[in-house]
Amino acid sequence: MTAAAEHAPSTDLDQIRESVRALCADYPGEYWRAKDEKRAYPSEFVNALTQSGFLAALIPEEYGGSGLGIIEAGAILEEIQKMGCNGGACHAQMYTMGTILKHGSAEQKKGWLPKIATGELRLQAFGVTEPTSGTDTLSLRTTAVREGDHYVVNGQKVWTSRAEHSDLMLLLARTTPKDKVAKKTDGLSVMVVDMQKAKGNGLTIRPIPTMMNHATTEVFFDNMKVPVENLIGEEGKGFRYILDGMNAERILIAHECVGDARWFIEKAKTYATERVVFGRPIGANQGIQFPIARAYAQTEAANLMVQKSAAMYDAGKPCGPEANMAKMLASEASWAAADMCVQTFGGFGFAAEYDIERKFRETRLYTVAPISTNLILAFIGEHVLKMPRSY
Ligand SMILES: Cc1cc2nc3c(=O)[nH]c(=O)nc-3n(C[C@H](O)[C@H](O)[C@H](O)COP(=O)(O)OP(=O)(O)OC[C@H]3O[C@@H](n4cnc5c(N)ncnc54)[C@H](O)[C@@H]3O)c2cc1C
Repeated sequence: MTAAAEHAPSTDLDQIRESVRALCADYPGEYWRAKDEKRAYPSEFVNALTQSGFLAALIPEEYGGSGLGIIEAGAILEEIQKMGCNGGACHAQMYTMGTILKHGSAEQKKGWLPKIATGELRLQAFGVTEPTSGTDTLSLRTTAVREGDHYVVNGQKVWTSRAEHSDLMLLLARTTPKDKVAKKTDGLSVMVVDMQKAKGNGLTIRPIPTMMNHATTEVFFDNMKVPVENLIGEEGKGFRYILDGMNAERILIAHECVGDARWFIEKAKTYATERVVFGRPIGANQGIQFPIARAYAQTEAANLMVQKSAAMYDAGKPCGPEANMAKMLASEASWAAADMCVQTFGGFGFAAEYDIERKFRETRLYTVAPISTNLILAFIGEHVLKMPRSY
């Protein structure tokens, strides 16, 4: 049994959390700082999570996974962040999974899922965003044209994270031109790209240097062939499948944000209690103590929505508003906690060895990606509050 396998998850939530913490303890700040400095992928950490079964939490047992729900998957990601690690290196495996689970054929599941569960295949890349269309997904320009037993894909994606470290990519492409579809949400299709085969055969990946170590890239498709058997569900219905999976994505990212926020609060609380300036702990000053208490209250409130959305998702209930609100509230809580933590640490908040500036950069992402706050507010305004469409 490997050291990682000793930390294998059980079905009890507290035990799962404890096992994740035990695994993460092997990957302290020094590990993440070294990776961050070189912008290197944390392969050892991802391998350990894979071997211990955590990344296969959502894969049904018949395909070699643990058959757990979003509640458990979210708890795993939350603990990772709470321990100062970064699930951003591999979280997509959990949230892209839903599309294959819900809409893939039995044959596709049999072909991919057991290999994903063992780590033989990594499903880490998710190709939706494009440079011209941005958040307006229905305007994406990448096309997949059927020619016999395969599709020929042309176009470009941007911010395709982990593409260099993944074997498979879940790709959204247009299979019917926009002006030939009855409904504007039709005509997009989801397919699984075997990236190892496609590299050099129509697929080019270029890393994008970014604020934090996120292994993100832009990818170019030039007559890249994808077998028709890799199409998920029905041709032209891909946008619906992706939207469906997005609730899972929002809920899981929201868990990560709660984990981040708790990490910042713990750091700040400890430092404020120990750091003595003017002859007393800085935490004895309300100017330092109250922002920490406020961040705590904000995080606990966000967490209630996170838990609610996860429970609704696992119960099979529609949870679009809750998933979006959870992601918005939790990302705002983690960002507020990050800002508070830097302020609490003063100058030392900027020193790499405290990990605060690294986590500060990492958690900044989540009010922008995978969906920005404005678009969540637009969704709530239009679909929950029934106000006029704002875009
Ligand atoms: C590090 C990183 C990793 C990522 N990983 C992935 C990935 O793996 N796969 C993937 O597909 N994508 C990924 N993304 C893309 C991410 O989902 C998008 O960046 C995000 O959804 C915002 O889209 P955009 O950047 O195109 O912004 P735009 O759509 O250009 O919008 C820019 C700004 O304008 C605002 N805005 C736009 N329209 C409106 C409106 N009508 N009303 C009000 N405000 C508006 C937005 O809220 C945003 O703040 C990643 C991005 C980053 C930075």
